[in-house]
This record gives sequence, C-alpha cells and structure tokens, in this order.
Amino acid sequence: MLSNKHMIILIVVSMLLNTANSSEWVVHNAEIMGTTIHTEVWHHDHTLAQRAAELVMQTMQEVNQSMSPYIETSELSLINHKAASQKLSISDELYAVIKRSLYYSEKTQGAFDITFASVGYLYDYRHKQRPDESKIKQQLAGVNYRHIELDENNMTIHFKQPKVRIDLGGIAKGYAVDLAIQRANALGIEHILVTAGGDTRILGDRQGRPWVIGIRHPFNRDKVIAKIPLVNEALSTSGDYERYFDEDGVRYHHIIDPNTGDSARKVHSVTILGPAAMDTDALSTSVFVLGATQGLKLLESLKGIEGIIVDNEGNLLFSSGLQNVE
Ligand code: AMP
Ligand code: MG
Repeated sequence: MLSNKHMIILIVVSMLLNTANSSEWVVHNAEIMGTTIHTEVWHHDHTLAQRAAELVMQTMQEVNQSMSPYIETSELSLINHKAASQKLSISDELYAVIKRSLYYSEKTQGAFDITFASVGYLYDYRHKQRPDESKIKQQLAGVNYRHIELDENNMTIHFKQPKVRIDLGGIAKGYAVDLAIQRANALGIEHILVTAGGDTRILGDRQGRPWVIGIRHPFNRDKVIAKIPLVNEALSTSGDYERYFDEDGVRYHHIIDPNTGDSARKVHSVTILGPAAMDTDALSTSVFVLGATQGLKLLESLKGIEGIIVDNEGNLLFSSGLQNVE
C-alpha cells in the first residue's frame, strides 16, 4: 500500500503532468493602440484558450476604435469636436473612463488630468516638434479637469472652456486590459496574462507558480531593476523613455505636467502594482507627474497599491509594502 506521503507526491506529479500535457499556453501578439499587445492564455481545452486570445485582441481593437485620438470617427474625437459647444450624450464606456479619470484628478490635485491634451496635442515626438512658450501659455487655459462637466442622469459631457481637448492615453490601455481579462474570464479562462505596452494584468498563476515580471531599468533596456512574483495582480509602468526626443540636453516626452504644459521631469520611471489595470495605469502616470515625495505619499494612502520609482537622480524607491523585493 502507498503511504500518505507517496500519495501526495503521486498526486502532485500527476497534476504537473496534467497541466504540462493536456494543453500548451496560447500566445498571441498584435500591434494595436500604437503599442504591442501580448497575451498568454492557458485552458485544458486548447480551442477555448485560442478563442480567449482572439477575444483579447478584438477587445483591444474595439477600445481603440472608440478611444483613439488618431481616429477621426472615434467617440473620443467626436467629444473633442463637439463637447465645448453642446451637452453631448456619450456611451457608458466613455462615461465610466472619464469619470474614473476625474476621480484621479481629484486624488492627485490635478497631476492626472486628461485635459493635458489641450497643450499635449501640440507635441509631435516622432517629428521632434514642441510648442513654444507663448503657445503653451495660450493653450494652458484649456488645461483643467474642472472644465469637464459630466451629467450622470443624462449621461452627457460638456466642456466649459472652448480650448479643452481630452486624451485618455494615461488610462485607456489599463481599462482595455481589465475588459479583456473580464471577457476571457467570462468564457471560463482562469489563467491568463494580458499586456498592452506598459500595462499588464494577470489572472491566476503560471502552472502552480507565480508569474515573475521584470521591471526594466530606465537607462538600460537590457537591465532589470526588480523581479516581482505575481498572481492575480495588475501592474503598469510609465517611463520617460517610451515616447520622447532630446533637444539641447533636455528630454521632451509624453507625460505632461498640467501646471506647466511641459514634460514632467521629477522622475524617470514609475511602476505601480494593484488589483486592476485601469487604476495602476492612471496611478503610474499620476505618480510620474507628482514625483517621488508626493507620489509615495499618495501610494501609502491607497489600500492594495504599491509602487517602485526611479527618481531623476537614478535612486530606486519602493513603497512600504515592497521593501523586501530584490
Ligand atoms: P502612461 O504611459 O500610462 O504613463 O501614459 C502616458 C500617456 O498619458 C501619454 O501618452 C498621454 O496620452 C497621457 N498623459 C500625459 N500626461 C498626462 C497627465 N498629466 N494626465 C493624464 N494623462 C496624461
Ligand atoms: Mg499610465
């Protein structure tokens, strides 16, 4: 007869064989939303895993069609064209994302502000173009989240200032990742990773072990500053190396300080960990603008949220729940 110990070992071994043999991980990559979308899905029914991976990509396409500022027909573009002159009815989806954005504007005293786009649209990082001082000054009149009026009863949006433009680049990828995970889970998937550029969410573990996610060094593509084991978690990174150009030793990049209309320069990179990607996404952009001191203070006040910051002197700073990470 087998002893209990042997039984346990046998069960563990057979479980390992099951996961290893019954099905491989399905991996899909695509270029959507101006970034690389990557998903890894496991299910003992390989066809279901395939379907889920396709659903992830379809979800990203859908969110891009409604929230891209580069697509003339997107709902976001429509809002930017019309919301200053009328109260515009919008979809539940846009309403929810804009409402969450305003929540983070309040939480960060305006460091996170989707109306940054009122000056932000004048930067063209690929062509190394930026607005001059006087143009920035002019457009700053449109930068203030308080210019956005949402009406929950009628599901409308209105801009109280004619210069206002909004952009959801600091939160939409996180929203899309959460939606993709939720849809895959509704299909019956319990083990999946979805990444959209700097925003990732993980459901379940990786064959009985945590996923290990490496955080890239901001100055060295090949170096990793931390490796974090994760299960059921979201993480987002914002860095000044993502979209930028350098001019006379100054870096102009895609995260804008709403107070100045210029790129935020207190830190080089921020990684946030938490339960949902929409929140980690908004918070990585927020803390990037706030800088290390105010940013860490904000993180300490939020339950279930942790962060890693590389400040503008290259110092590595961790929130209190991560002090033991290597
Ligand atoms: P992320 O890489 O998630 O930090 O997002 C960067 C994107 O957020 C930029 O490309 C802009 O679309 C948007 N963004 C830039 N500055 C701000 C800001 N101060 N508040 C909200 N969104 C911003
Ligand atoms: Mg972000």
